[in-house]
Amino acid sequence: MQKVYPWQQNVWETLTGRFPEMGHGLLFYGKAGCGKHEFAQQFLAWVLCSNKQSQAACGECVSCQWLKSDTHPNYVHISTDEDNKKQNAKIKIEKIRELLPFVQQTVDGWRVIVIEPAEALNIASSNALLKTLEEPGERVILILLADHYLKLPATIRSRLQHFALDRISPEQALQYIQTKQSELSVEQINLLLNLSGAMPLKALQLAQSDWLAKRQDFLLDWINLVTQKNKPMLFATKWNKELAFTDFISMFEYLLGDLICVKLNQSIKNIDLSFDPLLPAYTLEYLFGIYVEIQHAKRLVEQNVQSNLVMDQLFIKLMNVT
Ligand SMILES: [Zn+2]
Repeated sequence: MQKVYPWQQNVWETLTGRFPEMGHGLLFYGKAGCGKHEFAQQFLAWVLCSNKQSQAACGECVSCQWLKSDTHPNYVHISTDEDNKKQNAKIKIEKIRELLPFVQQTVDGWRVIVIEPAEALNIASSNALLKTLEEPGERVILILLADHYLKLPATIRSRLQHFALDRISPEQALQYIQTKQSELSVEQINLLLNLSGAMPLKALQLAQSDWLAKRQDFLLDWINLVTQKNKPMLFATKWNKELAFTDFISMFEYLLGDLICVKLNQSIKNIDLSFDPLLPAYTLEYLFGIYVEIQHAKRLVEQNVQSNLVMDQLFIKLMNVT
């Protein structure tokens, strides 16, 4: 029987202790990598389970088996379209409208709807959802998942009970990662927690990323580029091959963010790297200009512009020849 993460135990006890006396709209929020998706899955399995245990669903009843085979008639998961992986993809209003018959029908047992990520609701779909929140059927629980709940419309927020799932102590985070990846040193774990905003699941994901071990190598190339002011295409071609574009951009955004932090005398995330050789090359204003350029580059690649062309432009900008 799977249990919720240690840092979610309090919320679990609050919710299961109150059940079934609870509002029909719940908001689970917390930074990416805190495990809110996993928590929601555990909780909805428990709500639907016909043989509830104190710490989890039974895992064996008909309801639990339906969930395992992804065929539960009383559970609906709503997200952006499968084929739409763009950063700002929205949840279509049709998907919310299609909920109405589901919440209004009369059935035995509980029904659960999960909307994830709730930030992907646009104005039209939010308004449609408000209707559902105002007139739910009996034994319906609607769960919204969000990284940043302030990005949700106030009209939606005010109708939900809020539960934070990212209140994680440094000890809990460290311990959790140690149990999952015992070969990591405390220094490595601290780096991962720095990069992940102290979110353990994201930290574990970063540990597996292709770019983590290549930061130093890239930083050296970056320093060479701005000191020699030569061959930007050579470096661009190299890094277009070394990493997938999205991986490269993830790495680059972390490094650029730190370079900006050094300029502002703030603490950095890549605690194992030194950015000093890059400092004389850029003004703060220029660094923000690079940041804007990256956002533009991401949009171009989403629109199917070839990444090597985008990388060439970016490296010319990085070389900073005035
Ligand atoms: Zn069960």
